[in-house]
Amino acid sequence: MIGSGYGASICAARLASKLRPGRRLGIFEHGRERIPGEFGSNLAALLGESMRPVFRSDKRSLKNPLGLIDLRQGDDVSVMSASGLGGTSLINANVAIRPDRDVFSQLNWPSFLKNRDFLDPYFDRVACELGVQQDPVDHTAKMRTQRIAAENLRDCGAIYEAAAITVTRGAGCSLPILNRHGMLQRPCTDCGDCMTGCNIGAKNSLNYNYIPMAKRAGAEIFTQTEVTHIEKREGYYRVHFVYHCEVDGNPVPVSGTTTARIVVFGAGSVGSTELLLTSQDMNLQLSAQVGCSFSGNGDILGVIHRVGPTTRSGGFGAVETNGRKTGPTIQSSISFPHRPNVLDRVVVQDGGVAKAYVAAMTMIGMDFQIDHTQIVLVSGHDGSEGRIILDTDGGASIVWPNLYHHPRRKFNEDQIRLVASAIGGNYREMLPWKGKVGTVHPLGGCVMADTPMAGVTNHKGQVFDGRGGGEVGADGEFAIHEGLYIVDGAVVPTSLGVNPLLTISAIAERTADLMSREPKYGDLFAA
Ligand SMILES: Cc1cc2nc3c(=O)[nH]c(=O)nc-3n(C[C@H](O)[C@H](O)[C@H](O)COP(=O)(O)OP(=O)(O)OC[C@H]3O[C@@H](n4cnc5c(N)ncnc54)[C@H](O)[C@@H]3O)c2cc1C
Ligand code: SF4
Repeated sequence: MIGSGYGASICAARLASKLRPGRRLGIFEHGRERIPGEFGSNLAALLGESMRPVFRSDKRSLKNPLGLIDLRQGDDVSVMSASGLGGTSLINANVAIRPDRDVFSQLNWPSFLKNRDFLDPYFDRVACELGVQQDPVDHTAKMRTQRIAAENLRDCGAIYEAAAITVTRGAGCSLPILNRHGMLQRPCTDCGDCMTGCNIGAKNSLNYNYIPMAKRAGAEIFTQTEVTHIEKREGYYRVHFVYHCEVDGNPVPVSGTTTARIVVFGAGSVGSTELLLTSQDMNLQLSAQVGCSFSGNGDILGVIHRVGPTTRSGGFGAVETNGRKTGPTIQSSISFPHRPNVLDRVVVQDGGVAKAYVAAMTMIGMDFQIDHTQIVLVSGHDGSEGRIILDTDGGASIVWPNLYHHPRRKFNEDQIRLVASAIGGNYREMLPWKGKVGTVHPLGGCVMADTPMAGVTNHKGQVFDGRGGGEVGADGEFAIHEGLYIVDGAVVPTSLGVNPLLTISAIAERTADLMSREPKYGDLFAA
């Protein structure tokens, strides 16, 4: 298993629980293991945790291979994700919602997933394991502001809802809680720091659920281990990796290889695509679609200044609260489910700024009234027309000329203006992104499809064999590379119009389910 984000951890947990005696399952994760208390809560600490230089011109070099934050800045699109045991679950905003049913009817989805009913049982399973819940109405000022906006936009068809989030609440007490996976968590203090890592232990990141499940079932976890490429051999794969060993606090790379009959890529949309592009050779021929159909999920991060209602958007860290409440990064959604075109059905969510970013936000935005600033995140649609390529230095780059001027991006941005008009504030674009698009929801690059002409994997996540442009085998199915799977955001073939973690997770549950029931793996997994 390469990586330990939603796709990889879920697959590892489900497969490890079915492994036959004597069989081994390893998780190779590039980043470190993190525990509450270790996450930085000031800007200097966060800059130190950045894998690549944020301000220097050589933004692509890897200055800290064990950093938590992976910001890949490109000319057209910049992507933020996390590196560590648990992947981007360590720093995300916890929102876990299902896309609109019509999203799955679009052409790009493989026939077996064209109806959300096929995924609904897996959505249910994930929601249960991740401990999804909703905060009470008006629990925080930013939720209340969002509700007021939705009420003022009722004539435009706006619907307000507390968002389903993966956060542990303590029903009025602050004592630790034993979760359903036997892990102790502390209840949320509403500190607002989810985006820099929860120092309380309230965020239901993967290290509190699927990863302990995998470990308990016998999975072996290797952190600080970066897979560099794989080679296909007769009946197995050779996996090349670098172990980032630490000597006197400095990472020292040590190379190694191992072999496996099944290799599952779960390194995230950009990571898995980069690895597949790096690994392709005569023995591992791939669909010409590798790298195509990248989407930023229509993300727009916006700031609405000087709104009427109080928002209290600034986080305050793991300290005594004195009654202050920012709340988990996102707590509510405004949606427009009755719009005729599914691509117009976007969500606009409230946002909190983690303590470490408050000062920077204030300076960059020249906004000294953060208590009256509403941060909003739009998740929408963008046409999935980006392309991940390997640059001259061998690293992945995203090419998407003119995305900034794409009508869909403009439409998504207009949704923020709509919300601003409803709460009496001024929308201003986030300066670091001006003229570029930033996303925290990378999708695609190795998308699922019915044929190798349209995608990189089939609906089961099995990588198509690209020889001859895709050949049909004796069983009438398109040929695949036996034992090679992709399970993360890379396989999602369209933007989703909502935050993607639940969809990535449901697809991973399904992939693991189908893989463990493949008759040819009967010697590896018990039914
Ligand atoms: C700030 C922020 C807020 C977000 N908020 C939300 C939200 O509220 N709701 C939501 O649905 N989504 C949210 N997301 C996005 C969501 O977290 C991602 O879509 C999701 O985590 C992607 O899962 P994944 O399995 O594709 O990969 P990831 O979770 O990105 O995990 C990939 C893992 O693979 C590892 N890896 C990469 N390359 C290698 C390699 N070569 N060898 C070994 N390991 C490797 C990485 O270190 C990483 O740990 C947010 C993201 C960010 C950055
Ligand atoms: S608001 Fe604070 S305590 Fe609650 S989940 Fe987020 S980081 Fe953890």
